[in-house]
Amino acid sequence: MTAQEKLAIPPRGMPEQDPAVRARNMKEVALGYSAEDARTEASRCLACPAKPCMKGCPVAIDIPGFLAKAAEGDFAGALETIKKTSLLPAVCGRVCPQEKQCQKFCTVGKILKDQGKAVAIGRVERFCADWAAAEIAAGRLPAPKPAVAKPTGKRVAVIGSGPASITCAADCARAGHEVTMFEAFHKPGGVLVYGIPEFRLPKKIVEREIEGLRETGVKIETNFLAGRTLRIRDFLEKEGFSAVFVGTGAGLPKFMGIEGENLIGVFAANEYLTRANLMKAYDEEHADTPFWHGKRVAVLGGGNVAMDAARMALRLGADEVHLIYRRSEAEMPARLEEVGHAKAEGVEFHMLQNAKRILGGEDGKVCGIECLKYELGEPDASGRRSPVAVEGSEFTIDVDTVIVAVGNGSNPLIAATTEGLETDARGRIVTDGEGRTSIKGVYAGGDIVLGAATVILAMGEGRKAAASINADLA
Ligand code: FAD
Ligand code: SF4
Repeated sequence: MTAQEKLAIPPRGMPEQDPAVRARNMKEVALGYSAEDARTEASRCLACPAKPCMKGCPVAIDIPGFLAKAAEGDFAGALETIKKTSLLPAVCGRVCPQEKQCQKFCTVGKILKDQGKAVAIGRVERFCADWAAAEIAAGRLPAPKPAVAKPTGKRVAVIGSGPASITCAADCARAGHEVTMFEAFHKPGGVLVYGIPEFRLPKKIVEREIEGLRETGVKIETNFLAGRTLRIRDFLEKEGFSAVFVGTGAGLPKFMGIEGENLIGVFAANEYLTRANLMKAYDEEHADTPFWHGKRVAVLGGGNVAMDAARMALRLGADEVHLIYRRSEAEMPARLEEVGHAKAEGVEFHMLQNAKRILGGEDGKVCGIECLKYELGEPDASGRRSPVAVEGSEFTIDVDTVIVAVGNGSNPLIAATTEGLETDARGRIVTDGEGRTSIKGVYAGGDIVLGAATVILAMGEGRKAAASINADLA
C-alpha cells in the first residue's frame, strides 16, 4: 500500500456504550476494536524511519514494529513487541494520555493537519492485549511463562502495589530475587483499583496482571501499612531484606481551604472514588459500604480525577453533576477523551468559575456552593494562563454534595518514620534519577517521587529502580 493509500484510510472510531445508558451503569464505556478494526487502524501507520511516535512514549515501545505486526493480523507478535518494554498493555491501552504522548507526534496526524486523526496507537495496543487474554482463556494460546533467573537468595520488599511497584516487583522477580509486596489496602493494584473507575478500567484486567505477578513468584501481603506495621529500615535491618522499593503513590487528598469544607456532604475525590471502586459502594445489594446519595453534585477541579468523580456521581444516581473549573477548557489537564465522555453523559461544565465557600444548613449538611467568575490573566509557573477572580461576580448553585478534586500530595507517613530519607518541600522522595534514595538499600519510584503523574510514567520509574536494585544486588 502506498503512503497516499494509507492516508486515505478513514480512522477507526472506538465503539462505545450509548451515553444515556452508560451514564447509569458501571460497565466499560469503550467497547474495544474488532480484529478488523485493529488491522485497519494499524495499517494507517506509515512506518516512518525516524519513528517520531516513539519519542512520545515514556517506555519507548517499538510502535511502528507492533503496528506492522497488528496490520498483518499477527496480534500475538504485536503483543510480544509491546511487552518488551511495557508490562501492562491492557491498562495503558485504556488509560494512557496517548494524545499528549505517542499520538501527539504521529506523522499521520501532522499530514492530515488533525492530531485527532493520528494512528490510534493506544486502541490497537488495547486490542492486542485483550485479544491475547481471550485466546489464553479459551486455551488457544499458551499462557506466557516469563523467564525467571535462578534464585539469587536475596530478598526484595516492595511497598505499595500500584503500577510502579508492579513493574519493579516483576523485574526484580525475573532477576531471581525473592520479592514480597506490602500493600496497605486489602486489595493490590494501587490507583488502578481504588481510583480509576470500573467503567474506564475493568478490575478483572488489573486482577489478571496481579495474578501474572504471583505466577512469577511474587508474594503479596495486604493490609500492611509500611511505616507503621514495620518501619522501612526494619525491612533491611531486622527482616532480612536486601533492598526496599517504596512506591506508595500520591494518595493524600488536597482541599481548597475554603469555608464549609467540613460540612456533611463534602468529600475528597479520592475518598469518594475509593468507596465506590474498591469498596464497591455502588453495588448496594452486596456491599456494606455506607454511601452518600448525592442528587445535586458539584465537583471542583479539571483533571482526570475530577472527570472520574463527576461520572461516578452520575452512576451513583445524581440527577445533576456540575463540574466547576477555574480556568478554561483549553487548560484542563484531563484527557480529551474523558472530557468528551463526561459531557456526552450529561455532566454540566462550568468553566472560568470557582468555589468561594460551601454553604450549609442548620443540620450541618451542604445546601449550596457560592462561586466566583474568573478571567484568564498572564501565564503562571505551569505555563498556563492564570485565573483571576472577577470581583463582585458571586453567584450560588444549589447542591447537596461537593467533591473536591484539586490534586493529591504525598502521604507523609514513610518520610516521617524513616530517619535520613531525603524528601523535597512537597514531601516527594528524592532519588538520584535511577531510583536510589538517600538511604543505601532503599529505592523509590512512581508518584511518590514524581508527584501525581501517570500510569506509564510510574511504570517507567518502577523499571528504572528495579534495574538499579538488580545491579546493586549483583
Ligand atoms: P499508586 O497507584 O498510587 O499506588 C500506591 C499504592 O501504595 C496504593 O495502593 C497505596 O494504598 C499503597 N500505599 C501507600 N502508602 C502505603 C504504606 N505506607 N504501606 C503500604 N502501602 C502503601 N494516570 C493515567 O495515566 N491515566 C489516567 O487516566 C489516570 N486516571 C487517574 C484517575 C484517578 C482517580 C487517579 C487518582 C489517578 C489517575 N491517574 C491516571 C494517575 C495514575 O493512576 C498514577 O500516576 C499511578 O497510579 C501512580 O502509580 P504508583 O505506583 O506510583 O502509585
Ligand atoms: Fe506510524 Fe505515526 Fe509512528 Fe509514523 S509516527 S511510525 S505513522 S504511528
